[in-house]
Amino acid sequence: MSSRTASSSSDLRAGVTGPVRHLAMILGDQLDPQRPALASLDPGRDAVLMVEVEDEATHVTSHRQRTALFLTAMRHHALELMQRGWRVRYVRLDDRSNTGTFTGEAERAVRLLRADTLRLVMPSEHRVLRRVAEWPSRCGVPVDILPDPHFLTPIDAFWEWATARSQLVMEHFYRWQRTRLDILIGKDGKPHGGRWNFDTQNRKAFRTSPPPVECRRFRPDQVTNDVLRLVGRTFPNAPGHLDDFGWPVTRRQSRAALRDFITHRLPTFGPYQDAMWRGEPFLFHSLLSPAMNLKLLRPREVVDAALHALASGHAELPSVEGFVRQIVGWREFIRGVYWTRGVGYGEHNALDEHGKLPAFYWTGETDMACLSESIGQVLRYGYGHHIQRLMVTGNFALTAGIHPRAISDWYLGMYVDAVDWVTLPNTLGMVMHADGGIVGTKPYAATGKYIQRMSNYCDGCRYDPAKRHGAEACPFTTFYWDFLVRHRSRFAKNPRMALALTHVERMRPSQRRTIRSQADARRREFGIS
Ligand code: FAD
Ligand code: SF4
Repeated sequence: MSSRTASSSSDLRAGVTGPVRHLAMILGDQLDPQRPALASLDPGRDAVLMVEVEDEATHVTSHRQRTALFLTAMRHHALELMQRGWRVRYVRLDDRSNTGTFTGEAERAVRLLRADTLRLVMPSEHRVLRRVAEWPSRCGVPVDILPDPHFLTPIDAFWEWATARSQLVMEHFYRWQRTRLDILIGKDGKPHGGRWNFDTQNRKAFRTSPPPVECRRFRPDQVTNDVLRLVGRTFPNAPGHLDDFGWPVTRRQSRAALRDFITHRLPTFGPYQDAMWRGEPFLFHSLLSPAMNLKLLRPREVVDAALHALASGHAELPSVEGFVRQIVGWREFIRGVYWTRGVGYGEHNALDEHGKLPAFYWTGETDMACLSESIGQVLRYGYGHHIQRLMVTGNFALTAGIHPRAISDWYLGMYVDAVDWVTLPNTLGMVMHADGGIVGTKPYAATGKYIQRMSNYCDGCRYDPAKRHGAEACPFTTFYWDFLVRHRSRFAKNPRMALALTHVERMRPSQRRTIRSQADARRREFGIS
């Protein structure tokens, strides 16, 4: 079969023959359309290696849709390379000789193709980078690691910014980024609209049902359907459903997803970015993180599309600024923290919490309506928007005292956009405050009243968000007060916690004891302790 007509999963084979001069390995989250791994290579003498390995779907318990997204996006990328004339050694998950690991496949490919060198773009996580460091000796050839041009902030630049400061504050980083990259900055060096952020206009809740939301999903093609069947067969007991797979899996679809967001949701993104509503999993969010994290979309083009919507009058500044901050600020800041804080970052447990993850995180089966809704949606789509992650599934884990590694592994496995560099600092740092305050200067703990204010989840829930003890007490509210009681001496010197702690100090000792015993009973009920 001619490589030009490659178009289905059956065209993807490991059968490239050697010898090969440079073998360029492309990992599943390196599907950058500019193909940095192939720069200056010659399709006549060099070849591409792509591998589907079981290790990546099992090193944490993974949602089947997450595994499927990686595999189908890789297959589409490989087919496109073949259509462009590249020789691609593609090892499928069900290839009988597949060793199941990156290292095993790199070794095998170098040997079989008699490659002179191996090269790849810098892996995005410590775990993979550690393995790659062994490859020169394991494979017996030089291994070149190329810079990843995807991000707006080179790691060196982040280092320089970070080392000049005693504390890493995202808002300071964001202002530095806006100025450095000349985004929404006037000629006088001041921010557009005279303010750096529009949070006061951007924290609205819906009073009644949200307006209809238009949100494009992508029907699986033959390649994706092959993958969905393969993943269903190979991981029958893994969590998550495959039926509602609708993620963009190619560059073209990712561009269409970006246009869809800018046209239909960006104008309303800002005001309602913190709102939640039953039966509305996506609201006005962009749903672009999976495509961006696979590198099918570049952050700069996403930001430019939003800036263009502002310039053309399609969207207003509070929405555009709110969106730009997520990409230019949070996304780049989180990555900077991941690389500059090093391998040991994942082991932090500053609050010394050791609770087990309740079984309902895997099933959504709980009477707590907010958790049942947020987790149910993750099982169905592999997606939750930021406030669901931070203030529902995250807030519960923080205040109930779950071990940070147990919850961060859950986030890493269960979301289609999850890759360690972004999941870990968000979970361990922002949600669990386990890094002692590197990502967030205070823990994002809240009672059920916050969830009631920002959603309609509490309507009809069997618990009452205003009550902190008794049979009807909302577990979020109980755990919130228990969290403050348990950690009050730890947070005593944190000025941002002062107001919350005055309420605890005013409690009678008997009130504190009641809260503690109610929280302990709930922990036993949920299988946390
Ligand atoms: P939108 O709300 O439309 O936001 C636009 C974009 O901004 C996102 O696509 C994302 O690229 C970026 N962004 C916004 N906030 C963050 C942030 N805190 N960190 C990094 N990027 C951000 N994001 C991931 O991409 N992968 C993860 O594994 C991940 N895990 C998270 C775990 C927890 C506990 C929390 C609190 C947040 C996590 N986030 C993660 C950040 C954020 O929740 C998601 O990026 C966002 O919900 C993705 O949906 P969206 O594309 O519709 O985002
Ligand atoms: Fe969640 Fe509590 Fe509201 Fe129920 S009452 S939905 S548990 S916040």
